[in-house]
Amino acid sequence: MPASPATVLPFEEARGVVERHAAGVSPCAAEPVDIAHAGGRVLAEALAADRDFPPFPRSARDGYAVRAADLARVPARLKITGESKAGAAPGTIPAEVRSGEAVLIMTGAPVPSGADAVVMVEYTARQGESVEIQKSVAAGENVVPRGSEGRAGALLLACGQRLGAAGVAVAASVGKSSLLVHALPRVAILATGDEIVDVAAQPGPHQIRNSNSYSLAAQVRAAGGLPVLLPIAPDEPVQLRRLIEQGLASDLLLLAGGVSMGKYDLVEQVLGELGAEFYFTGALIQPGRPVVFGRVRGKYLFGLPGNPVSTMVTFELFARPMLQALGGARPGPLSFFPVRLKREIKIRPGLTRFLPGLLSGQFAELEVELASWQGSGDIAGTARANCYVVVPPDRERIAAGEMVAVWRKA
Ligand code: AMP
Ligand code: MG
Repeated sequence: MPASPATVLPFEEARGVVERHAAGVSPCAAEPVDIAHAGGRVLAEALAADRDFPPFPRSARDGYAVRAADLARVPARLKITGESKAGAAPGTIPAEVRSGEAVLIMTGAPVPSGADAVVMVEYTARQGESVEIQKSVAAGENVVPRGSEGRAGALLLACGQRLGAAGVAVAASVGKSSLLVHALPRVAILATGDEIVDVAAQPGPHQIRNSNSYSLAAQVRAAGGLPVLLPIAPDEPVQLRRLIEQGLASDLLLLAGGVSMGKYDLVEQVLGELGAEFYFTGALIQPGRPVVFGRVRGKYLFGLPGNPVSTMVTFELFARPMLQALGGARPGPLSFFPVRLKREIKIRPGLTRFLPGLLSGQFAELEVELASWQGSGDIAGTARANCYVVVPPDRERIAAGEMVAVWRKA
């Protein structure tokens, strides 16, 4: 899908281009990981139920296992014939609950056969070997049937699933102490700029500390990659080329800075000399308009604009889905959610804007307003914000009280 040397796309189109390329990549190889370190990793094997889940009809409450039909009229008195507690081996619980009988049962314990419901202990009064039940139950109430969460052999989680806490719990429940996950994609990070110095250096009055390499490293980790930090590249083609070539040893290359129209913005020129093809060289967005997406020597690359907020936003909008695909995950859709705007927004139309916002309120009562922000270089303002307000390109004014799209910061 080669593109002309300068293609500036509307936001959704640019995102679509990345998604289509991401759908075609071969993910990193599989490797085993101990379950204790599996959180955040991407499954390279499917997880199937090794037995029925649950393996027996499980009580969801403390109470009495009964036949629902016995409680058509309440109060009713039933004879207690035994007890079923979690972990009780077969043979220690009554084999059958017959009409007129009840078995004392605890949460998580097997429901004996014959019983079809559990009455919560709160609705009962025990008197010696019998129990008075004050409330009737429907058949099936408070009983999780055997196999209802998954029959033996059923697919529980597919390849490509990123393991959150629930996924790790599934792996544990099917006995996977070690599981196959995709290796973390190595992501080369190359900051460019004659004015950029390392964080440990004392900057001269004309110099700026390198923040992009570190913010990108944090984003790469959060997205499931392994950051590989390269030395800062000067705005000089020979050294820039050498460092880009070094970066191409990784699975994905991220450049920060040097993609604008200035005389010393050399990234596209040097990539071009290396034979890169470009799929877009700009997106109609703010921040991050000069963002570049391409491929060189078989590796995908993103040229992210160097203004620190542009770097962060364009990583999330464009580089993240490619990184996820290289890591074997099925990239999900980018979703925004509607929130009521607290204060009017006035803006020039033409670009999709991602403006740092402050989301406040709690539970279902949320409001959002723009954070005070000096533009794409204002990292402190962005760090204090907790979301981005997404303003579509055709809007000039959004009134207080309207619903706006909000994108939660990753
Ligand atoms: P550029 O995209 O190279 O034109 O840079 C745009 C702005 O971002 C300039 O003000 C740069 O000084 C700043 N900048 C570029 N790279 C970095 C970096 N690695 N860390 C912090 N600021 C940067
Ligand atoms: Mg620069």
